[in-house]
Amino acid sequence: MNLEEKINPVLRQIPPSGIRKFFDLVANTKGVISLGVGEPDFVTPWYIREEGIYSLEKGYTMYTSNQGLLELREEISRYLLRLTGVAYDPVQEVLVTVGVSEGVDLALRALVSPGDEVLIPEPSYVSYGPTTMLAGGKPVYIRTRPENGFKLTPELLEEAITPKSKILLLCYPNNPTGAVMTADDLAKLLPVIAEHDLLVISDEIYAELTYEGKHVSVASFPGMKERTVILNGFSKAFAMTGWRLGYAAGPKEIIAAMTKIHQYTMLCAPITAQKAAIEALKNQNDAVKKMVEEYNYRRRILVEAFSEMGLWLFEPKGAFYAFPDISATGLSSEEFAERLLFEEKVAVVPGSAFGPSGEGFIRISYATARKDLIEALKRIKRFVRKKSLK
Ligand code: PLP
Repeated sequence: MNLEEKINPVLRQIPPSGIRKFFDLVANTKGVISLGVGEPDFVTPWYIREEGIYSLEKGYTMYTSNQGLLELREEISRYLLRLTGVAYDPVQEVLVTVGVSEGVDLALRALVSPGDEVLIPEPSYVSYGPTTMLAGGKPVYIRTRPENGFKLTPELLEEAITPKSKILLLCYPNNPTGAVMTADDLAKLLPVIAEHDLLVISDEIYAELTYEGKHVSVASFPGMKERTVILNGFSKAFAMTGWRLGYAAGPKEIIAAMTKIHQYTMLCAPITAQKAAIEALKNQNDAVKKMVEEYNYRRRILVEAFSEMGLWLFEPKGAFYAFPDISATGLSSEEFAERLLFEEKVAVVPGSAFGPSGEGFIRISYATARKDLIEALKRIKRFVRKKSLK
């Protein structure tokens, strides 16, 4: 029996993850400083961990309702009102998910009919294309440009739209570029979104990590709540990647459809994580603020280091990634990343892993301890200055 033939053929069309390949290389090389992973270098703040432990002590070890604990949904609803200014009904308009990862998957599966096109500005987070394909849709990538600060413009959006376009998948603050869309930037997209009757999935997982001004959600504009699903979670802002917790907020019909899939697949998100997350939001103290301040400090170190190296860096405005242009070295982004790893033992991700517009760039995560980041930047500087690269 040929088992390869029995595997879902869609999987054959999905290329292997360009990030995974680098993690495997890093795992096999000793003494590497990794600027590769998009994961906070902080442990979850103690007041949250403590609540997780306490909930276990009290014997909370069961399933919750499919939609998630009502108390958590109420906290999420209050939090979203603070963060975005949009009011969501915790009973009908909020679903607790297993990370934003599950939220992306559910939103796409709930909305995509076979052949529907999903518009994805790129460079983009690596899961959007594959999840769209697994949902039966077709990813249509929109190339954003560094000259525009890697933002989606109405012209770029308009050009990509066809009669099959159904969903626009936004991610600001952006992984991998660190780009942020201001209220003005978003407002310019609205007439195009309305004219073509698009739905919007807005991955706002990095909302708290906005360094200049306040985060603006696309759902906060008049008429947009009705066509937008916000996805957010605890992994990045609260340093809770391993707890696997996120949520979706949007129109009740879409949340009901997502819940229907979730109840037959995941059942519910882990109860310990839900209990801890109630505490994370209810008694939010300055723990998140302190982490954000530290990321912001590292961001400035990075911007300065790249300007000293003479490599162009779009100044990241959010998330914890920088996306410097390494094309002046004459190396492709894969060559740069591979040689940097072997010669200087610094791991970065080639920009090409995030789509064709990422070629000529590398992604650096500054969710890395300050001293490691400073040492890694020294090594990158040495690498760039090597004669062979000039
Ligand atoms: N969305 C974006 C843009 C991300 O960068 C990531 C993780 O890197 C995720 C979603 C996944 O987050 P979670 O841990 O909540 O599943």
